[in-house]
Amino acid sequence: PRLTNQIAAGEVVERPASVVKELVENAIDAGSTRIEVELEAGGARLIRVRDDGSGIGEADLPLALSRHATSKIGSLDDLEGVASLGFRGEALASVSSVSRLELMSNIEEDPTAGWRVVVEGPRMEPRVTPAPHPRGTSVSVRDLFFNTPARRKFLRTEKTEFGHVEEAFRRQALSRFDIGWVLRHNQKTLHQLRPGDDLIARERRLQALLGRAFLEHALHLDLASGGLRLWGWVGLPTHSRAQADQQYFFVNGRVVRDRLVAHAIRQAYRDVLFHGRHPVFVLYLEVDPGAVDVNVHPTKHEVRFRDGRLVHDFLFSSLHRALGEARA
Ligand code: ADP
Ligand code: MG
Repeated sequence: PRLTNQIAAGEVVERPASVVKELVENAIDAGSTRIEVELEAGGARLIRVRDDGSGIGEADLPLALSRHATSKIGSLDDLEGVASLGFRGEALASVSSVSRLELMSNIEEDPTAGWRVVVEGPRMEPRVTPAPHPRGTSVSVRDLFFNTPARRKFLRTEKTEFGHVEEAFRRQALSRFDIGWVLRHNQKTLHQLRPGDDLIARERRLQALLGRAFLEHALHLDLASGGLRLWGWVGLPTHSRAQADQQYFFVNGRVVRDRLVAHAIRQAYRDVLFHGRHPVFVLYLEVDPGAVDVNVHPTKHEVRFRDGRLVHDFLFSSLHRALGEARA
């Protein structure tokens, strides 16, 4: 059965950044308060994610690596109310079928306890041995695509791959201010972000991830109406060197790319006469699941609102008002 994982791996595992995304989502789901991401050679040689979350018990370790084993839902009916980021139970199986994967974990406070399991490629059965580890989990993925040369060939330069990883890291760090984060590449620490959910801490993180200029030329807003809340930062036109790709939109904590959302933002910008400027923003839409139905695709960054018109109008009018006031 592990051979089928190698085929399925293509869907989830495209490049180091997709591995980082899956491993970090697992760390978030485990309730971690601190997540460290470490890479070597853009992730082609090593991707390691350490967390201080709930950990995985001895008996569950081999299960965690098998396909369709998830601890996150009991039945398909549970899919309706799923709150966790991953629930398909195939990320670890897929990644382990195309890499040398080591999983270490400990569910106890005792740092001398813990277990380790190693898998290399699709044919190996996982073997569990004792290994000390602080409470939480470390997943090390070495030599990604070592056994699928065709896919390995598709990896770009170290710089390009790391760029994608950094972007995935940025999105995830922006999605959870209450978690502390570290990003390291080739033994160099690039980001060390302390947790904090107040405005000062959030803006400190924004500056670290997006640069001082972004924050200096951004307007903070926080508006709510009819079961919807929009908060975050929008760039003002005084930011002349705004990078067009600094556009982050989260719906109930998940990063989303959506035409309706993009349209509402662009429209508000244009109406307030920010002509010729690329909107830049980090915005969080919080939607009361009872009031507005929101359906976020698990891997793609897609969202479907049952009442798209309502969401569009709320976004447009909120931004229009905030930007208009800032201009006046
Ligand atoms: P999914 O996240 O869809 O359940 P994965 O293949 O990503 O599937 O993970 C399989 C299972 O392994 C998870 O359901 C979870 O029980 C366990 N697991 C994976 N990573 C972690 C982690 N960092 N901390 C705790 N448990 C984890
Ligand atoms: Mg997962």
